[in-house]
Amino acid sequence: MKKTYHGSCHCGAVAYEVGLDLSAGTFKCNCSICRKKRNWLAVVQPADFRLVSGRGHLREYLFGAGSIHHLFCETCGIASFARGENEAIGPFITVAVNCLDDASAEELVAAPISYFDGLHDRYDSAPVETRHL
Ligand SMILES: [Zn+2]
Repeated sequence: MKKTYHGSCHCGAVAYEVGLDLSAGTFKCNCSICRKKRNWLAVVQPADFRLVSGRGHLREYLFGAGSIHHLFCETCGIASFARGENEAIGPFITVAVNCLDDASAEELVAAPISYFDGLHDRYDSAPVETRHL
């Protein structure tokens, strides 16, 4: 069942509310940026996401096809969410589940994690090794 969580960057300039069911799954990926950031993400529908503050603090990083807007706070550098669009699911938001301030340790530990082999553009399968992600 979806629950409303409050997410933010480290300095607090960027804050959002998101409707999310952590038990429906989260993901980690081995693509070039997820590996470096050790991203732990959940995909949400844009309708379930509301930016509460920090629009003017957000900076954007684009690479490759530029289809994902990697957003981060200009003050503290934390990337608490991103926006993207692809053919499979249309427009989407990813939230960094570790930036959800009111997600309990128990909820996070219980959240299932799927692994994607984004390094090889195989988002339907897991990489051979996942322990470093
Ligand atoms: Zn910040």
